[in-house]
Amino acid sequence: MRLRPLPAACATAFVLTLTVLPRADAAADAAAPAPTTTVLHCGHLFDANSGRLQGETSILVRGERIAEVRAGRMDAPDGAKAIELGQATCLPGLIDSHVHLTDQFGPTTYSDQFRLNPADYAIRGTVYAKRTLLAGFTTVRNVGDGHNESIALRNAIRSGLIDGPRILSAGRAIGSTGGHADESDGYRSDLMGDPGPADAIINGPQDAWKAIRQHYKDGVDLIKIMPSGGVLDESSSVDNAQLTEPELQALVAAAKDYGFAVAAHAHGAEAIRRAVLAGVDSIEHGTFMDAKDMQLMKQHGTWYVPTIIAGDFVGRQAKIPGVYPPQVAAKALQVAPQIMKTAGEAYRAGVPIAFGTDAGVYPHGENAHEFELMVQAGMPPAFALQAATTHAAKLLRMDKDVGTVEAGKYADIVAVPGDPLADISLMKQVDFVMKDGQVYRQP
Ligand SMILES: [Zn+2]
Repeated sequence: MRLRPLPAACATAFVLTLTVLPRADAAADAAAPAPTTTVLHCGHLFDANSGRLQGETSILVRGERIAEVRAGRMDAPDGAKAIELGQATCLPGLIDSHVHLTDQFGPTTYSDQFRLNPADYAIRGTVYAKRTLLAGFTTVRNVGDGHNESIALRNAIRSGLIDGPRILSAGRAIGSTGGHADESDGYRSDLMGDPGPADAIINGPQDAWKAIRQHYKDGVDLIKIMPSGGVLDESSSVDNAQLTEPELQALVAAAKDYGFAVAAHAHGAEAIRRAVLAGVDSIEHGTFMDAKDMQLMKQHGTWYVPTIIAGDFVGRQAKIPGVYPPQVAAKALQVAPQIMKTAGEAYRAGVPIAFGTDAGVYPHGENAHEFELMVQAGMPPAFALQAATTHAAKLLRMDKDVGTVEAGKYADIVAVPGDPLADISLMKQVDFVMKDGQVYRQP
């Protein structure tokens, strides 16, 4: 977890931090159980570095970290707890690089924004966070919420108050007036108002700096931007370019000043090109990415987070009359047939791929269906698993702490009953979940 550096020149902030932090720590200490030692006996271990399945493996866990990984059976040291997982395959805790934990699309989504308060979304987030953790996802990037409630959710999980995955939060996504990030799209004119950079809506490079600085102040871990249209907002285009080159350059430059990675939602080829050239870390969705974009992404080392499951899900929902407004249904039907094709082409072209699903667009907890869709798109099962472990850990800049089962890393370990390389659908049957050395699910 990256912590925000203290603003050194700001004496008031320093005093405030000194008075607030010890109280938060004391609360966390009171809730945290004493450090324990555990030995896990796994039938097999998925080695995320090589992409191969290893035989019987013992994993020694001390406190929140992995102390030792040994082939074969290891006797539990005195006082240690042994967990027998039989023939199960252990894997590193899974990473979803694209979730929206504080909301889930449903029949009342479009009118909920006039009835629900930020606290309503925050409370829903506690339920969806637990579902996500129990499905085996121990680390996630929350790339967009309505009112920064995913920052509060992150903090509550981090301090041990509630169960959920480790969260990196982008707070609210940043876009332009009338674009995919503008929550007043579709409102009646007297309700629309004119959201500005403090509401994550920018028009011009100057606004970009103000929006990023506001996000820093709000306590985000990364920045999410909207260079192109999207499916579920109430405007008409899914792929038009919605941020100019100077706006994108300013966003990336400002993000860099604060050490933030930038995730770029983009469906259209032109928006993808602009975002990659501006230096974003990842393209999310990437539906209408062309061969030139793919070459550019390879050159720049830009990650691709395909979210095939979201395209697949909205495509099926759009065929049910009344689920989406007509213009949204039309956009969903445009994206659905293309997204899996693009993911397969990007894999064959050698674009770096990290696992992400857009959970919240489809029901939370079903994230692992993405593995099946990645394999259907033409990726080998081992590659799909690496996308959700070693690759995503690099994208999140957390590869020193998560992504593999190795000594020194966080004890984030999940297990499935069988060989996921032979049957990728087993990833939907995670029945053991450990995060930070604590067991949340056991067969
Ligand atoms: Zn999304």
